[in-house]
Amino acid sequence: MEKISERVMALSPSATFAMSQKAADLKATGLDVISLSVGEPDFNTPDHIKEAAKKAIDNNFSFYTPVTGYLSLREAICRKLKNENGLDFTPAQIVVGNGAKQELCDVILSTVNKGDEVLILTPAWVSYIEMVKIAEGTPVLLYSGPEQGFKVSPERLEAAITPKTKLLMICSPSNPTGAVYSKEELEGLKEVLVKYPDVLILSDEIYEHITYVGKTASLASFPELKDRTIVINGVSKAYAMTGWRIGYCAAPLPIAKAVNKLHGQYTSNCSSIAQKAAEAAYDGPQDCVEEMRVAFQRRRDLVVSLAKEIPGFKVEIPDGAFYIFPDVSALFGKKFGDKVMANADDLAMYFLEEALVASVSGASFGAPNCIRFSYATSDAKLVEAMARIKKAVENLK
Ligand code: PMP
Ligand code: GLU
Repeated sequence: MEKISERVMALSPSATFAMSQKAADLKATGLDVISLSVGEPDFNTPDHIKEAAKKAIDNNFSFYTPVTGYLSLREAICRKLKNENGLDFTPAQIVVGNGAKQELCDVILSTVNKGDEVLILTPAWVSYIEMVKIAEGTPVLLYSGPEQGFKVSPERLEAAITPKTKLLMICSPSNPTGAVYSKEELEGLKEVLVKYPDVLILSDEIYEHITYVGKTASLASFPELKDRTIVINGVSKAYAMTGWRIGYCAAPLPIAKAVNKLHGQYTSNCSSIAQKAAEAAYDGPQDCVEEMRVAFQRRRDLVVSLAKEIPGFKVEIPDGAFYIFPDVSALFGKKFGDKVMANADDLAMYFLEEALVASVSGASFGAPNCIRFSYATSDAKLVEAMARIKKAVENLK
């Protein structure tokens, strides 16, 4: 008897976590593996945030919280959205969950019906397609390559919208490409979207603060789109809090209510202690965010210059997030011994096994010619990793 549901059988495992687990397994055997696979800041959570969590434990914040999160946290999020993004939301429109990941999935489950089309601007983070599959929606992938700066044009967006399009998923700054839509570029997309009032917009802004081209813009800031745009964000990337698992959606009220209902049945609330820590992150001093951003920018410059020296790597300069996403297709067909590098999966595996550097193949991001390397690690490790990769590439015949 088959015990696993068709729903889960049809899912692909998370390629980011699969690769980081492989790296961890190899490391556990004593090998000196450098992991540039999973994307998470290598910094420790700032002290004032940790202190707030310790205080929350001592002050007995140990009971269930409201399903949508403490009111004080949702108020802090509303202040953040107002002050940093110029967006007006009320606490009733915010749902706090276990990371931006859960909130993305909750919004998709709360809005997408079987057969609805979800337009995903690719290359896109590995989980988007799978989340749409969980909701039995139809992922429609709209790819933009390096020639387009990995960004969709208004014309191509319009051509992809059909009467079945329910949701558009956009991520800026982008994981994996680092592309950032300017206010003017978003304005162009807005001009298209106003013509299709039934299309909802899911705007993933988790890398908002990790940008090298100044402040980022949001589709939610256009009044014409505000009542159908859902903003996703969280503390994982900006405050180096990946393990604390706090993210949120800021949504039109009916959608926030639907997510609340869903949460009430299968999540309840997320950790009370982590919520108090997130509140301190939003209400506390913000210099830590800028300090980490500056470090990421330095590493971006370093890793781009090193990766450009690797034969067969075509590297674009990312404007945000903490990944490089080189096109490595010039290496397809080359051999190591009698092993042929037929695609990016083979190359990523070769880099792991021979160079002891973990990356993630572009295939699960919808870009099979590319490989993603996270540069959220120390300068020394980046220098060593790129040197190893260069040597491994030079060993291909
Ligand atoms: N969106 C994107 C584009 C991401 O890269 C991540 C990182 N995993 C997330 C959402 C989810 O972040 P978290 O669940 O840690 O808040
Ligand atoms: N966002 C990170 C990444 O893409 C974390 C891992 C994940 O959630 O997929 O690597």
